Amino acid sequence: MFDLIIIGAGPAGISAAYEAQQVGLDYLILEKGLIGNTIYNYPIGLTVFSTVNELELQPNTLFPAREKPTREELLSYYTRFALENNLSVQWEEAVLKVEKLGENHFQIKTEKAEYETKTVLFAIGAMQYPRHLGVKGEDLPKVHHLFRETYPYVKKHAIVVGGGNSAGEAALFLAEEGAFSTLATFRKDWEETDPKQGCIKHWVKEPLETQLEKNCLDVFFLGRVVEIREKDIVLEDESGNIETLPNDVVFVLIGSDADLTMLKNLGVETRNSKYGEVPVYNEETFETNVSGVYVVGHFTEARHIAGAIEVPKKIIPKLVAKFDKVKSV
Ligand SMILES: Cc1cc2nc3c(=O)[nH]c(=O)nc-3n(C[C@H](O)[C@H](O)[C@H](O)COP(=O)(O)OP(=O)(O)OC[C@H]3O[C@@H](n4cnc5c(N)ncnc54)[C@H](O)[C@@H]3O)c2cc1C
Repeated sequence: MFDLIIIGAGPAGISAAYEAQQVGLDYLILEKGLIGNTIYNYPIGLTVFSTVNELELQPNTLFPAREKPTREELLSYYTRFALENNLSVQWEEAVLKVEKLGENHFQIKTEKAEYETKTVLFAIGAMQYPRHLGVKGEDLPKVHHLFRETYPYVKKHAIVVGGGNSAGEAALFLAEEGAFSTLATFRKDWEETDPKQGCIKHWVKEPLETQLEKNCLDVFFLGRVVEIREKDIVLEDESGNIETLPNDVVFVLIGSDADLTMLKNLGVETRNSKYGEVPVYNEETFETNVSGVYVVGHFTEARHIAGAIEVPKKIIPKLVAKFDKVKSV
């Protein structure tokens, strides 16, 4: 019987494991992919937007070559942190089901084994379901919902659909490295400058504008995507005109959603927030309405890596206090 099982080895899960280890909890992380799996899936060579202090698990431990780390430096940092601190983590083991058997007693089924634990912390992120446009042709092999790299698309007609930073970065990488790149976006997203609205960051927008001036990029102000076909794509512009553009590859980068199924099956309540559906939890302890079930990281309202790392530092000591209370009863 573990004290704590953490589901997910992203920044939130790793931070929680380190804190649990510090206070002597008997814990285990179960991760379906690799350590830092979401970061592993970032575009190759990407420089992240956060500053070092927002990404570090402990102060003065991350030393990128430039001001901000690349995907590779960040992935190496989290992986090495887990290994060098001997964190108890099992990767390539997806959790399939969590059942509450009684007070302080959960059973966790993975694709490889079963475990029992007194408490469970969901640190599952919000990348499970990339959002789809729901248009005809979206299932063609040339359509991707993740952008990894640009080189297969040199001199090809690439369209990126989306209005956030991931879409902006993909369109920029493609334009800079010789693809015929079009960013299909809503005008309001392109013109948005408030970073809190999830717009394209100014250090991505400025080089995008340079690519526009050099005619290496087009921006298409979208009404909607009508249809994706083998050799072209049909778009409606913001005034309702239909245009057909030659096309070899489409990247649909319009966000993603968490899989809340296991939480809901446990009886955890959810609500709608500006980020979409989020679990309901106590803002001090991050415990849900189901006693012993905690949530942390990017599918809560404490988003981004900074929040994912900071919240476990606050809540794990409180979780220990709960055990002490249970023991003394
Ligand atoms: C291209 C890109 C760039 C970004 N840049 C930044 C940035 O510069 N700064 C920033 O703050 N944020 C950035 N983000 C967002 C950032 O990646 C997330 O905020 C961060 O990963 C959240 O950490 P987390 O631990 O909550 O979730 P995640 O890192 O998503 O970790 C969740 C983990 O849970 C695992 N998991 C899910 N379900 C299961 C299951 N059933 N069983 C076992 N394991 C499971 C997943 O495989 C994953 O490893 C970026 C995102 C993208 C896509």
